[in-house]
Amino acid sequence: MTTKVYGVLGYPVKHSLSPLMQNAAFKALNLDAQYILFEKTPQELAGFLLYLNKEGISGINVTVPYKEKVIPYLSSLSKEAQLIGAVNTIKVSGSKLEGFNTDGEGFIRHLTGDLRFDLRKKNIAMLGAGGASRAVAVYSAIAKVRTLAIYDVDKEKSTALIGQLKNNFKDTEFRIADSLSNLNIQDCALLINATPIGMKESDPLLVEPGLLHKDLLVYDLIYNPAKTKLLQTAEEIGAKASNGLGMLLHQGARSFEIWTGKLAPMAAMRAVLQQKG
Ligand code: NAP
Repeated sequence: MTTKVYGVLGYPVKHSLSPLMQNAAFKALNLDAQYILFEKTPQELAGFLLYLNKEGISGINVTVPYKEKVIPYLSSLSKEAQLIGAVNTIKVSGSKLEGFNTDGEGFIRHLTGDLRFDLRKKNIAMLGAGGASRAVAVYSAIAKVRTLAIYDVDKEKSTALIGQLKNNFKDTEFRIADSLSNLNIQDCALLINATPIGMKESDPLLVEPGLLHKDLLVYDLIYNPAKTKLLQTAEEIGAKASNGLGMLLHQGARSFEIWTGKLAPMAAMRAVLQQKG
């Protein structure tokens, strides 16, 4: 039997935690498989994708900057990936490449499973309207949140995202916020940071403490650092706070399940991430 090969495609991709997590999963289930890094330049992308099958690669994760760029090379796209407009998981089935997006499901599984937060009928506010925000927004709409307000410094992005959400989901009220205060965080149960602001030590605090309240769950998609200034501030005012490590874990678990058809060994995957996080 030959070793199955999986990996993560990106540029750059060196700091990814996915190899650690997926290799721990293969080991826990005694699967003859390995997960490696595929750092490819934009010039190498097409050739790499066209030869996945011939190279004996069974599945890949896709990260920045290729989540949208891989779509034209795929044979099929899950309904959710289609709605999100981005792919983070590809399954190689013979000569066919099937595209999925597990980011949104990772977020929901973490929120509802681990944090016991029920999204149904909640008012939520989100910062950022990029790729990760689209995944979270689509899955929040599937989970039937009551209202979703989105603020992005680039209003064109939030306008485009809200327009698309309105066309596809009728049970949620969507709103473009043109400023932070216009997000109406005081009426929300959940505030999500889906911008990269907070990753760098020099980044400013995203939301002033006065706009937060203690009945809020503040969820930052960033997991490195483990506690952004936003999460630190949320804790200081008595609100609940979570980083995105759980989302990373659950999106990886879902990818594992798509590739192998087996239930992901959550304890093994969680343990290696917690050692790092
Ligand atoms: P992205 O595509 O760059 O989107 C971020 C969006 O936020 C952009 O539209 C950006 O606008 C906007 N923005 C920047 N500063 C802002 C501010 N102060 N207020 C409001 N909006 C602002 O990034 P992404 O791929 O969606 O990723 C976002 C974050 O999520 C990253 O930190 C990433 O590491 C994290 N993430 C975590 C997971 C996980 O599993 N935990 C999964 C995916 C992503 P401009 O482009 O105009 O700057």
